[in-house]
Amino acid sequence: MTVEHAAELISRSRRTVALTGAGISAESGIPTFRGEGGLWTKYDPVKVASIETFLANPTAYWEVAKERGSVALAAKPNPGHQALAAMEQAGRLEAVVTQNTDGLHQAAGSRRVIELHGSGRTVECLDCGRREPRADVQARLDREMPPRCGNCGRTRLKPTVVFFGESMPVEAVQEAFRLANESDVILVVGSSLVVYPAAEIPLEAVRGGAAMIVVNAEPTPFDRLAAVVIHGRAGKILPEIAALTGA
Ligand code: NAD
Ligand code: ZN
Repeated sequence: MTVEHAAELISRSRRTVALTGAGISAESGIPTFRGEGGLWTKYDPVKVASIETFLANPTAYWEVAKERGSVALAAKPNPGHQALAAMEQAGRLEAVVTQNTDGLHQAAGSRRVIELHGSGRTVECLDCGRREPRADVQARLDREMPPRCGNCGRTRLKPTVVFFGESMPVEAVQEAFRLANESDVILVVGSSLVVYPAAEIPLEAVRGGAAMIVVNAEPTPFDRLAAVVIHGRAGKILPEIAALTGA
């Protein structure tokens, strides 16, 4: 059985690192970008969440974020996030590297979380640099569009996520590659593995001799490189794997 094989690899490993994508949060009610029901069937994020479009028209961004941001802020971790937190607690998992910006790994209790694309829980004023919780901005969107900075009064408030056209946080990327390089098992969950450089991370691990485990709802371009491929829901599969490792 593949679940057992995955658990055995993790139990025997010295350093397992997880890489997660939007798929792990799908069961928390946050839509993925790609795949069935994905956001890209509704909006074009390259337009909506690109830094150029945002700077030209913050209102257009916040109109979309009004709906989407509230969903993400209200979301709760699911058994997939919880299983990874339990594995870390049990000494079975070194760290979670995530492409997600929803903060659900931390909410589930994961301690070492590397956010490659920043966090959607905080908003920063591009003019004066003041930061405030996303929830506060989100709460005033009904009467204030685009939202205004409470400090300088200007209207370039941007979530601390990496937009299209922006570079990724250097330290997080370096740490992710270091972790991948030092890992002997890389557990990839809910990522379509088509966004680079995030997709480079499991390749780096495999080049360094790590065994790759893929848990995803549908096939990925890296399935053929994996030691174990499990097509299914993260919220079902990860708790099964975690339980078998004794976490
Ligand atoms: P993606 O949307 O490109 O791919 C998600 C993958 O998850 C798909 O292959 C899909 O088949 C799979 N999937 C869907 N439901 C699943 C489930 N229940 N269990 C297991 N797999 C499931 O996501 P991506 O590869 O992470 O890249 C998209 C980018 O969008 C990321 O860089 C991320 O920053 C951003 N994003 C983040 C969030 C979030 O924070 N929750 C949500 C959407 C997009
Ligand atoms: Zn300001």
